[in-house]
Amino acid sequence: MGISYWGPFADAIGGGDDHEGFANRQMRDGQWSNGEWSSRFPSDAHVGFRAECTCGWHGEELFPPTDEGEEAADDAWSEQHLQGLIDAEARKHSVRADRLLRWMKDVRQAALKTEPDSNVLGGERLTERSRGFGDALEQLGKFLEQQAREQR
Ligand SMILES: [Zn+2]
Repeated sequence: MGISYWGPFADAIGGGDDHEGFANRQMRDGQWSNGEWSSRFPSDAHVGFRAECTCGWHGEELFPPTDEGEEAADDAWSEQHLQGLIDAEARKHSVRADRLLRWMKDVRQAALKTEPDSNVLGGERLTERSRGFGDALEQLGKFLEQQAREQR
């Protein structure tokens, strides 16, 4: 029914089981539908959405009873609740730069693909996707350099 998180640290924060986000509908009489769509909670009788999580957390803001409002409530769950859980878990871990450099090298060898191109020296160039990926790896390298400079 809702949104489950399966990204980094999902297991540690219980992202797949403990925290499922959804846009809870508030009905005209003030009741919350809690994900129920029925004759008790018809699809045209809600006055707004708020961000809610199966762990009990909920946002404060009431969003409009529109598709955009529902999306905004989903986004609010992600930004106001889920991201804080991920950040707190991520702060417990650090990765040494030498491990990141080794990972970057492995990824570069495994993921960067070339295609024939008679217009360039050597007769081949990186595919468009690989160029984008290579740019991302280069940015990560610059980030590591910057971190090293700041820590001197
Ligand atoms: Zn939660």
